[in-house]
Amino acid sequence: MPSPPPHRVAIVGGGPAGLMAAETLARADVQVTVYDQRRSMARKFVLAGRSGLNLTTSDDGERLLDRYGDRRAELAEPLRRFGPAELRAWSAALGEPTFVGTSGRVFPESLRATPLLRAWIRRLADLGVRFEPGHRWLGWGLRGETGETEEPSGDGAVVLRFATGLGEPDAHEIAVPADAVVFALGGASWPRVGGDGSWVERFREAAVDVVALRSANAGVRIPWTEIFADRFAGTPLKNVAVATGGDRVRGDIVVTTTGMEGGPVYALGGEIRTALEGGGAAIAMDLTPDLDHDRLSARLAERRRAKDSLSTWLRKAGFDPVAVGVMREATRNRLPETATALAGLAKSVVIPVENLMPLDRAISTAGGVAFDEIDESFMVSRLPGVFAAGEMLDWDAPTGGYLLQACFSTGVAAATGVLEWLGRAGP
Ligand SMILES: Cc1cc2nc3c(=O)[nH]c(=O)nc-3n(C[C@H](O)[C@H](O)[C@H](O)COP(=O)(O)OP(=O)(O)OC[C@H]3O[C@@H](n4cnc5c(N)ncnc54)[C@H](O)[C@@H]3O)c2cc1C
Repeated sequence: MPSPPPHRVAIVGGGPAGLMAAETLARADVQVTVYDQRRSMARKFVLAGRSGLNLTTSDDGERLLDRYGDRRAELAEPLRRFGPAELRAWSAALGEPTFVGTSGRVFPESLRATPLLRAWIRRLADLGVRFEPGHRWLGWGLRGETGETEEPSGDGAVVLRFATGLGEPDAHEIAVPADAVVFALGGASWPRVGGDGSWVERFREAAVDVVALRSANAGVRIPWTEIFADRFAGTPLKNVAVATGGDRVRGDIVVTTTGMEGGPVYALGGEIRTALEGGGAAIAMDLTPDLDHDRLSARLAERRRAKDSLSTWLRKAGFDPVAVGVMREATRNRLPETATALAGLAKSVVIPVENLMPLDRAISTAGGVAFDEIDESFMVSRLPGVFAAGEMLDWDAPTGGYLLQACFSTGVAAATGVLEWLGRAGP
């Protein structure tokens, strides 16, 4: 008996989620082709590596699940099956052992994505995965020459339409049949290196509910003076605490030309959005969260010398120039002159927020394919043979390695779902 032809599975979107789905399928001897609209795979992953790739977290169990808020139930099984321990072992096997840094964040030793990605692409090619960069998914194709439906249906044979050769004289459209497809098209932040969210309309046309995409883990816009922005853009404000009225979050923040970025600011995103909708938002920053007002005031009084300028005095009391700059910005350069009043200011520097950074400058995207549309195997219930993974699903998490972790985990989960659906043994 001749053996049946191997199953052909298309992965659309070659970021971390799509490539992890490709690896899982290729290991089960499925014929896998990865399509991506960019000229190379995983460009956002490479971008993430530029600021020190935070691959995953040392959190596990309930603590890990808590980071996914309302989606903890849907992500529990993928995270159990391929969680931080598995991801770290996978990275080490690709020649990139990991270490645990501050606040439990996990990084590859090189702190970059490129060496890991290179080794990964080599391994995928060795497993027989084919790559088709420069292929933009346009929508569903017609099934058969006389097919009257534009959507995949019934027996799982899916037809995908791609534009290829974009910008070249030989640009054209192709229709690709597949036994199943894993979509891993990402969100809509940083469209230069990844997705632009144009898939949303294609899914909605197929009657799939997609929760509106919006920025998550976004910095804030602040009307800094030109002098301050020129001098301090790129400078970290180390170990501060910020609040907008509710939660108080500690950590490091980076000043940018137009505002501030960093985990503590991202964590306030929801509150800031609500405050902006209500008419205005401000961040109260505590520059010395380890010193209460009285101790700070005593320290300032003790370090005062008559001949010192205000800036020298503050520096001697332990404030970085950027922290002094923030206090000057908040008071329009009218710093108070007594130790008590300065301590009061440093414990609560009020900085007006103009807006959140737009979606195209956010670290991640909230919203996406609604989990009501996805069964436990990560198949889109109304589109048999169509699976989805990664950031394009409607989950969200703070920075700290939780984003990439869930992308990898759901990539494995969707591929495992494909294998079950095709009647093949899982990994
Ligand atoms: C500056 C920055 C730093 C970050 N740092 C970290 C970090 O340190 N740790 C962390 O956990 N997370 C980080 N993230 C988030 C993380 O990079 C993303 O969550 C992750 O890349 C999402 O993976 P994904 O595979 O779901 O989607 P993506 O990586 O966005 O990949 C989706 C792919 O689909 C392709 N695509 C989209 N539409 C189409 C189409 N129509 N046709 C064909 N192809 C298409 C895109 O070109 C893209 O390659 C960072 C993000 C940014 C922007």
